[in-house]
Amino acid sequence: MAIVTFPADACHIIARYPGPNLRLITGMRTIIEPFRIKSVEPIHFTTREQRTQILEAAHYNAFLIKSDDVLIDLLTDSGTSAMSAEQWAGIMRGDESYAGSPSFFRFRDVVQEITGMQNVIPTHQGRASEKILFSIIGGAGKYIVSNTLFDTTRANIEFSGAEGVDLLCAEGKDPLVPAPFKGNLDVEALKQFIEEKGAANIPLCVLTVTNNSGGGQPVSMANIRSVSEVCRAAGIPMFIDACRFAENAWFIKQREEGYGSMAVKDIAQQMFSYADGCLMSAKKDAFANIGGFLAMQSADLAQQCRNLLVITEGFPTYGGLAGRDLEAIAIGLREVMEEPYLRYRTRSTEYLTERLAAVGVPVMQPAGGHAVYLDARSFLPHIPAHEYPGQALVCELYLEGGVRGVEIGSFMFGKYDAAGKLIPAQMELVRLAIPRRVYTQSHIDYVAEVVIDVFDRRSAVTGLKITEEAPLLRHFTAHLRPVGAH
Ligand SMILES: *Cc1c(COP(=O)(O)O)cnc(C)c1O
Repeated sequence: MAIVTFPADACHIIARYPGPNLRLITGMRTIIEPFRIKSVEPIHFTTREQRTQILEAAHYNAFLIKSDDVLIDLLTDSGTSAMSAEQWAGIMRGDESYAGSPSFFRFRDVVQEITGMQNVIPTHQGRASEKILFSIIGGAGKYIVSNTLFDTTRANIEFSGAEGVDLLCAEGKDPLVPAPFKGNLDVEALKQFIEEKGAANIPLCVLTVTNNSGGGQPVSMANIRSVSEVCRAAGIPMFIDACRFAENAWFIKQREEGYGSMAVKDIAQQMFSYADGCLMSAKKDAFANIGGFLAMQSADLAQQCRNLLVITEGFPTYGGLAGRDLEAIAIGLREVMEEPYLRYRTRSTEYLTERLAAVGVPVMQPAGGHAVYLDARSFLPHIPAHEYPGQALVCELYLEGGVRGVEIGSFMFGKYDAAGKLIPAQMELVRLAIPRRVYTQSHIDYVAEVVIDVFDRRSAVTGLKITEEAPLLRHFTAHLRPVGAH
């Protein structure tokens, strides 16, 4: 593998001053995909006329488009990773014994090694971990505090009767202002909230690393430490939503004083050392197509979780997974911490961000770990929140070039007040999530061209209205239509 080497602080330069002239600044070479391709999967081209019909038939909801009708699928980085040759080999090694499979012990050992958590509980994906945890600790009158809860996490909290509260730092709320750790939790707001509501009513604090709904932005080690101190003093357990723990650790290494020469694994271990437990979707930073886990120090809480696990997921040594999935996850969790991979990974999102920012497309700065976030509010300023500018942009990107992204704004998070008026989300973003190890630089160049072509004709884009929706996670199934259409 030809790995480019460059001075340790070149990364700091890139992180702080992203710009198109990297080679001039650093003298470094292109950061290449740290793999070669052994098996290929065709992607499907459609005409603009076909896409117009497809979009209408999908009720202007990208979740309802068949993936065969999508050319470049940036809907999510979840479960869409390319597995390595090693992982496929692990699939064959998977032991499908109902109880006590060696695949479970390999999985458990890796999770324990990285997180330091004593109790490891496999689940079929992240939200299954959430359902189990919040069924036990949630409930009416309780508050779960967070930097930003992911949509399924929030839905599981609310389903239990509890309330989810986001206490994101100020810099995290402005997509266009660059800062190194825009995923940080506002520690002062946390202290105030605890004082106001009482620690007894706050059964858990969840730190989402990186902050998916807030732009894939990292949380600093200093912030993890401070949040942990405040929570410990108040007797509130702190869990890490660890879906992208390796990307977060990499950003700490790049951007936080004192971590530049530390191994990613050591940084990850330190992150987890401040927590009482963690939840993870292995569909993200484990390169697996399915899977997840809950891990925690408390044997008592773990026992309660396992009691629910056996009635909803499966026996404690497989949870909701096949032995082969446990193998793929165990191998993926190690591979994801390899530095050539993380360097390439974060560079690909940064590269797309740079190309867009260079021509004035409003894009979140700096680039997130797993995705590029377009600021739909600035992109389409003529479309008000109640006409869902983010969703309108998602539709245009599909029409323009068969690129599928996802709205993270008022369509996903909007609520209604007592009078039925939309309470908009804090930000109107469109996420272009980059699947791990799947697309090459030319795919990403194509995506940039599509976004720029939509940007050039942005004033002609119109808003949407919802015609049908479900009470929770409405964005998955809702129907919309263009404003003015009948
Ligand atoms: C994906 C995700 C989840 C939920 O995991 P699933 O495997 O999709 O159920 C929870 N939290 C975060 C931050 C996520 O990105």
